[in-house]
Formats: sequence, structure tokens, C-alpha cells
Amino acid sequence: MKYAELANAGVHQQPVYEPGKPIEYVAQEFGLDPARIAKLASNENPFGASPKAMAAGQASLKSAHLYPDGSCRKLRAAIAQTRGVGEDAIIVGNGSNEIIELLGHAFLRPGLEVVMGAQAFIVYKLVAKLFGATPVEVPMVDFGHDLKAMRAAVTAHTRLLFVASPNNPTGVANSEADLIELAESLPEHVILCLDEAYAEYLESAPDLRAQIFAGRKVFCMRTFSKIYGLGGLRVGYGYGDPELVKILQRVRQPFNVSSVAQAAATAALTDFEFIDHCRAANEAGRAQLVAGLEALGFATVGGQANFVLCEVGEVGGGGAFFQALQARGMIVRPLAPYGMAAFVRITIGTEAENMRLLEAASEVAQTVGGMA
Ligand code: PMP
Repeated sequence: MKYAELANAGVHQQPVYEPGKPIEYVAQEFGLDPARIAKLASNENPFGASPKAMAAGQASLKSAHLYPDGSCRKLRAAIAQTRGVGEDAIIVGNGSNEIIELLGHAFLRPGLEVVMGAQAFIVYKLVAKLFGATPVEVPMVDFGHDLKAMRAAVTAHTRLLFVASPNNPTGVANSEADLIELAESLPEHVILCLDEAYAEYLESAPDLRAQIFAGRKVFCMRTFSKIYGLGGLRVGYGYGDPELVKILQRVRQPFNVSSVAQAAATAALTDFEFIDHCRAANEAGRAQLVAGLEALGFATVGGQANFVLCEVGEVGGGGAFFQALQARGMIVRPLAPYGMAAFVRITIGTEAENMRLLEAASEVAQTVGGMA
């Protein structure tokens, strides 16, 4: 008997996440100097991690032979302070991807439905399918979540409704008032899962704590992979009603977050100088990229996260543009897997990286026809 015959039925239909290509691979494939390659494909922080976080992570290596604190006490205490919620309202995960999966473990099964935007972060769909639930994809408006249409897509079978704000890959955020209205309109059997992976890039992030405290089924998720610059360490968290968090704690691995990740994340959380610098530089970079791409004749969606969308046209679309940029050492993300073949997503880099991206885009626009 083949392994394929032994595997669970859903496994063969399970879509696979396609991550951005690592710099070393692209260097090898195109014979480029890795130092000249810029990875603007995975919405990582181009300024690295906070020096305080790196020092704390390094110091924690002295205890690498010991298992980490399975309940992430110090990190949860620091998050509780920052977010203004109780420690029992917080669960830490191996990236917020794990938190999304834990929601699946706890709440999804065949016959149930998960409501999400049609161009929302793809992991919601992957997790729904992984647990045999049905993803219900709601068309988006002007690259943003149509919260009214999402509310209308809720049925008796819905358990989770995901809103990423700002959304990845479109970058568009929903207003606090609209999110609160949605939270207050949902029936009791539906959990609003608000993905705040890019919330630190907003001038002021929507705050749904009052709805959580009032007993509305709202669960928020954040990550250390974006503005905190710790994507390689895999750490994120969710906060919500302690009763929900207790359920999620039951379905996670005992030591799901490494000691290095816990130490670095705890220090990163309060390095406000670093965070403020990254937010300001990101805004300047957004303006630089949007203006530069528009000057080259490309339409853009600037969004409110740490990336911009660039419309490169159906002819020679995102795939060809992506390939041509990659050959010039600029790794961006083609959006065909999101049904947006005419677009690429470009992470906002340092000023120098953005400049190189614009130079490469200009060359590509001249050599590959039908781009803009
Ligand atoms: N949510 C959104 C909207 C994201 O874009 C990402 C990262 N691409 C994640 C969650 C997951 O982040 P991580 O697992 O690195 O914490």
C-alpha cells in the first residue's frame, strides 16, 4: 500500500502555502551576490530586530539545554501590560499562524463554515480546509473587507469569521467603528477573529477590548514577525476572553514557543524607540515607493501596512514581472495564488532598497512589454 492511500482523504486536496524565496536560493539560481539581493517578499522588517531583543535572545542561549517556560509567563505578563488585558486573556504561539491553527483545532470540523475575504491572508483558508470545514470567501470592495457582506454570509454553520486589518495581501484596513459594529452584530455562535498582524503600522489601531470585556465573541491576534522584526523566531499571540483562551491552551503543544523567542519578544515589546523609528521609516518608504512606481506608470495600492501593491497588468502579469525583478536581485511576491495575477506585493524596504527596487522596476518596464 502506498503512503498516499494511507493518508487522510483531505490531505491530497490540501493547498500548500508558498513562502517568499530565501535570499540564498535566489543568489544561487541567478548567480547573484547575496549582498546585492533585497527580499521584499514576506513583509519582514527591513531594519532587522530591535538590538535589545537580539541581546535578550542571545543571552537566553545560556539556558538552551533547558525546556522553555511552557506557559510563557514573562512574555504574557509583558503583553498583558502593553495590551491592557489580564494574563489569562493571552495565549502565545509559534507565530500567529499557530494561533490560527489552534482556532481550527478547537472550533472547526466538517460541516462547519469559516467566513473570510476573498483576498484575505491565505492561512485562514488553509486552516479551514485542514479541519474539513468550508471556507466561505466573500468578495472584497476596493481591496478592503466588506464587513456587511461578511456578516450577511454568516449561517448557522459559521464558527469563525476572520478579518485581517490591515489585510495581507491588499494592505487595506477597516475602521474601528465598522469593526465594532460587526462584532456587535454577530450571533453568539460566531467568533470574530481579528488579525492585527500589521496593527503596529497604523497610527492608531482599532481597539475592541471593550467588546471582549462585554462578552462579545471577539479574539484578536498579533505577531512579532512584522514591526518587531522577529519573523525567524516564530512568535505571535492572541488575546480574548479567558474562557476562550483556556480552550486554546488545551490544544497547543506543551513547549510551542522557544526560550529564545520568548526572551527576544519580551524585550522587543517595550523597545518603543525602535518601534517608532520603524513606523516612521515605513511611512516614508511607502510614500517613496508609491510615488516612484506611479512615476513609472504603474497603478498602486499604498495600503496601511508595510507593503504596497503594484499593478503590473494582465499581459506579462505578476509572474513575469516577478521573474524579471528576481533576476535583478529584487524578490517581491506575485499574487496569482490570491487570484490577483495582475499584481505584485512589494514589502517596503529601507530607503536604499526601495531605490534599487524602483531602478529595477524601471528597467523591467522598459524591457518587458505590456507591464503598466
Ligand atoms: N496574519 C497575517 C495577516 C499575516 O500577514 C501573517 C504573516 N504573513 C501572519 C498572520 C502570520 O504571522 P506569523 O505566523 O509570522 O506570526
